[in-house]
Amino acid sequence: MNSPRIVRCPTCGGDSVFAPSNQWRPFCSERCRQIDLGAWASESFRVETTPPLEDLDPDALPPELRQ
Ligand SMILES: [Zn+2]
Repeated sequence: MNSPRIVRCPTCGGDSVFAPSNQWRPFCSERCRQIDLGAWASESFRVETTPPLEDLDPDALPPELRQ
């Protein structure tokens, strides 16, 4: 019998069983997997979204960003 391999859950840093018995591997649970996917999705969403220019105050920008 192979002992189950324990990896660190990328979301919570806890122990996660890296074996077919753990369908959420490398995460420790469905919750951690969902959190990670959610973080990835929001990151992607942020990259594809440009900030509305009308909300920017030119005086609040650092000098190197002023035009
Ligand atoms: Zn976890």
